[in-house]
Amino acid sequence: MSKMNRRNFLKFSASATASAGLIGAPHIANASAGKKVVVVGGGVGGATAAKYLKIMDPSLDVTLIEQDKFYYTCFLSNEILSGNRELDSIKFGYDGVGKHGIKVVNARATAIDGEKKQVVTAAGNFAFDRAVVSPGVSFLWDAIPGYDEAASKKVPHAWKAGAQTVMMRQQLKDMKDGGTVVIAAPPNPFRCPPGPYERACQIADYLKREKPKSKIIILDSKPKFSKQGLFTQGWKDLYGYGTDNSMIEWRAVSNGGKVSRVDADKRSVFAGEFEDEIKAGVLNIIPPQKAGSIAKASGLTDDTGWCPVNKKTFESTLVPGVHVVGDASIATKMPKSAYAASSQAKVCAAAIVASLQGKEMVTPSYVNTCYSIVGKDYGISVAAVYRLNEEKDIIAGVKGAGGLTPVDASAEHRKREVQYAYSWFENITQDIFN
Ligand SMILES: Cc1cc2nc3c(=O)[nH]c(=O)nc-3n(C[C@H](O)[C@H](O)[C@H](O)COP(=O)(O)OP(=O)(O)OC[C@H]3O[C@@H](n4cnc5c(N)ncnc54)[C@H](O)[C@@H]3O)c2cc1C
Repeated sequence: MSKMNRRNFLKFSASATASAGLIGAPHIANASAGKKVVVVGGGVGGATAAKYLKIMDPSLDVTLIEQDKFYYTCFLSNEILSGNRELDSIKFGYDGVGKHGIKVVNARATAIDGEKKQVVTAAGNFAFDRAVVSPGVSFLWDAIPGYDEAASKKVPHAWKAGAQTVMMRQQLKDMKDGGTVVIAAPPNPFRCPPGPYERACQIADYLKREKPKSKIIILDSKPKFSKQGLFTQGWKDLYGYGTDNSMIEWRAVSNGGKVSRVDADKRSVFAGEFEDEIKAGVLNIIPPQKAGSIAKASGLTDDTGWCPVNKKTFESTLVPGVHVVGDASIATKMPKSAYAASSQAKVCAAAIVASLQGKEMVTPSYVNTCYSIVGKDYGISVAAVYRLNEEKDIIAGVKGAGGLTPVDASAEHRKREVQYAYSWFENITQDIFN
């Protein structure tokens, strides 16, 4: 498939599937005119939901509440670590969102009150007919002894892009040739299942160029990981995986991968049955995760720490009138990814508009694509189309749609995957912020 064709296909499938239930809707929009929708969280899910609500029904009064002035995408942030990308290229403001007629409020929401139907912030309270929340993830700071929020100021997680990414990049630059980079990958479910392994690739790309005597150890609290076959093939092709000189070592949970504690001052991590100490030049702990803290404070989470939703509308099953999309939601079997958050946001916007207009929401489809850049001219991807299975209450992958990069892909194909990854980034950031 050519670059343009593939790009157009992905753009088409994302928006067409989500808006399928609303063809002609703006012409009968009076029932919803002036209704207030407040969106909390101006990341992928929130900003996309706000924009598509306004596109699908311009008569709505849409407010977006975001705590930060700028958003740094996690996607492609691993390239900052390798020095292959500058931070500015992943930084986005909210002027473009405002141009759609959305009120953008720069404030932290402290509660979403489902009974009073208002969002509480230091900048005032915002009444709503419907709320959408996409707060991303927060970290379980008590899960790994020695690794709390204070420790993350010395030992970065870099799992929210920005200052943490910059700190980790600096530590990589400061590390001597021959040092060890340790990445501790979290248990499922977590934001971006292929992310820790792409991170290892990007760091290996840098070390191979600048510090070839160095090594990367991935400590994993899981027995297997996303796109494992493709990643390990890439590690073999580029970084000597499987040989005595491999730059990357992956330790599964059954092979000493489980972290038991961290000493942030010494940059040491203790792992495995015998709590062996590994002294790192750069230590990267990616902690276990749960829904962003506002979700719990607003009664939107269950015992898992994530938010149960009606998968057709993304309305919370715990707090009526409040919808949760993106990483925070339990959208089984979609992964916690930016493209999934974008697709869910469009389905959610369609469902809210349909409901406010007194229309039936159709059975939605959803889409996800995830690229990983393994090294220079070497990309891999997974793509999937999903459809709601109401009987099983899952968002099920559609057989025969999507797929993985073939194991026997040519060098030209792998090179093109990198270009697809960059064009995907341009498309999705344009779709969110412009
Ligand atoms: C290293 C890495 C690489 C990744 N690569 C990819 C990739 O290649 N492809 C892909 O599809 N996905 C990728 N992801 C995953 C992707 O970044 C997330 O899945 C996506 O950002 C989820 O969107 P979200 O809206 O749920 O959360 P976010 O995008 O994190 O947005 C949450 C927003 O809510 C705001 N917020 C939170 N609480 C409040 C509050 N109380 N008040 C006001 N604002 C609040 C935050 O400031 C933030 O702006 C990657 C992630 C990582 C860590």
